[in-house]
Amino acid sequence: MELFDFVVVGGGITGLSAANRLSEAGQVLVVTKEALAESNTSYAQGGIAVAMGGDEDVALHLEDTITAGDGLVERDAAALLVSAGPERVDELLRFGTAFDRGAAGELERTREGAHSLNRILHAQGDATGREIARALLARVRGLKNVELREWTTTVDLVVEDGSVVGVTLLERDRALTEVRAKAILLASGGAGQIYSDTTNPAVATGDGIAMAYRAGAAVEDMEFYQFHPTAFAMEGAPRYLMSEALRGEGALMRNARGERFMPAVHPQAELAPRDVVARAITRESLDGPVSLDMRHVQKDLKARFPGISAFLAGYGLELARDLIPVRPAAHYLMGGVKTDLAGRTTLPGLFAAGEAACTGVHGANRLASNSLLEGLVFGVEAAGAMVGRGTGMRARNSGKALSVDRSPLTASADESAEAVERWIARLRELMWRDAGLLRDAAGLRRAQAELRAMRETMPAGTARRAIEARNLHTLAEVMVASALGREESRGAHFRLDFPDKWPVARHSVMQQGRLWFEQGSLPAEAEDRELQSLAHS
Ligand SMILES: Cc1cc2nc3c(=O)[nH]c(=O)nc-3n(C[C@H](O)[C@H](O)[C@H](O)COP(=O)(O)OP(=O)(O)OC[C@H]3O[C@@H](n4cnc5c(N)ncnc54)[C@H](O)[C@@H]3O)c2cc1C
Repeated sequence: MELFDFVVVGGGITGLSAANRLSEAGQVLVVTKEALAESNTSYAQGGIAVAMGGDEDVALHLEDTITAGDGLVERDAAALLVSAGPERVDELLRFGTAFDRGAAGELERTREGAHSLNRILHAQGDATGREIARALLARVRGLKNVELREWTTTVDLVVEDGSVVGVTLLERDRALTEVRAKAILLASGGAGQIYSDTTNPAVATGDGIAMAYRAGAAVEDMEFYQFHPTAFAMEGAPRYLMSEALRGEGALMRNARGERFMPAVHPQAELAPRDVVARAITRESLDGPVSLDMRHVQKDLKARFPGISAFLAGYGLELARDLIPVRPAAHYLMGGVKTDLAGRTTLPGLFAAGEAACTGVHGANRLASNSLLEGLVFGVEAAGAMVGRGTGMRARNSGKALSVDRSPLTASADESAEAVERWIARLRELMWRDAGLLRDAAGLRRAQAELRAMRETMPAGTARRAIEARNLHTLAEVMVASALGREESRGAHFRLDFPDKWPVARHSVMQQGRLWFEQGSLPAEAEDRELQSLAHS
């Protein structure tokens, strides 16, 4: 058994920001499932949203975040995000992050969907995440208190007397080890791999959320998965992201007849919130392929979007010359391990931040480019609380409880790698079909029954893919149960059989097989009034 002061699961923007701060207080172990550069963070293209222009800018960023979140944003969390953001981004600049600059040396800012101002910083055109990860990694590598351990899979949390005291790790050589620490941070990212169509890399299997749930922690708002409207859609090609920044720079959406359809759907047209654009594309796609059109944009698009341009060139396409076929794909999990603003979960000793956590900062729908900022801000907040090592989070009020089954963790005999891949593929396809962009009770019940049947053939053993298969299954059951319980349509969660919103916004919470709903901080009517007063202040 090894001992550290702090363990951080994950080496994306959240884990590295936290490790940097934790190193001031003790010995830190950071584990990543693959190479350090392999995380959602490294794939982020468009940029990081930050209000660097003073109080009015911060107030507008808050307003945009709350509006995009469709009544479910926790105001305190969003206020912390937008107000602490500038300081955190200044820190990134001090660590040497090379955001793109104009001729006079000023930071370039672009706009994405549902932002009222140009406030998105970007790097190397469309490689913002890679540049931030590079700078943070260079910083953290230089810290003598931090050990970075790659190709190491966290299997489970070690719980004693109701507190999390360590983790079990599957090391690169396939040995299982136990590491103990005063506090554990889950910075393990999202779970895009739960869907057959996703922009997320292979590491995004929601491990941290699944292990927290198994250990008895509450998870929140798990039915809210953001589907990015514009992932590349060509037979046999990966679902490569066509960044929202393309629309920020003027790209138009066209249906199979070559017509624009977004102006009739939303006043912000192509820059409407993501859920609105994604559903509109899904509807238009029934009549044929939908495309992005930048042929009219007077800009050097290869220079502005070098990564996307290089990817498209591999398929004989050019932004300035061709229509680019797109379709939605699973992109970002708004839900996660339920935490307070300092990353405290419902279990003492366990903290979570970034995409793995749910503070309510994104509500029902994340505002574009707010998640890199979330990792920066809440990673550092969690580190601060870990140093203080407080007790479990304060409980919020709780409502009516529904009972659902828990999935078992142990299963049948070891299976071949191919059988595990087939099992995972089946799960991903059923989630896409029945718990994707458009949902109803019949589909969700079918998914629930199929997932229950799949327990009988759950991959066993300690191979990484078997561990991921079980984690995906745990989360799929939680997501489907939460989606069934939410009999309304809000943000990214759209129920064909319940198209209206509940009059009061409520978070779903699941813990140890029970699902219930808690009132959010912004009831719909109050929210409207607050937004009006903000807009006039
Ligand atoms: C293609 C793409 C483009 C995006 N563009 C943007 C953008 O422009 N702006 C924006 O704000 N957001 C963007 N996002 C979202 C954003 O990148 C993520 O939400 C954010 O980077 C999450 O950071 P994180 O540190 O919480 O998790 P991640 O960066 O995903 O890091 C997770 C880490 O956890 C590790 N891990 C996972 N499971 C285990 C385990 N069992 N054991 C050990 N380690 C584990 C992984 O190896 C990884 O190191 C984009 C996402 C994608 C996929």
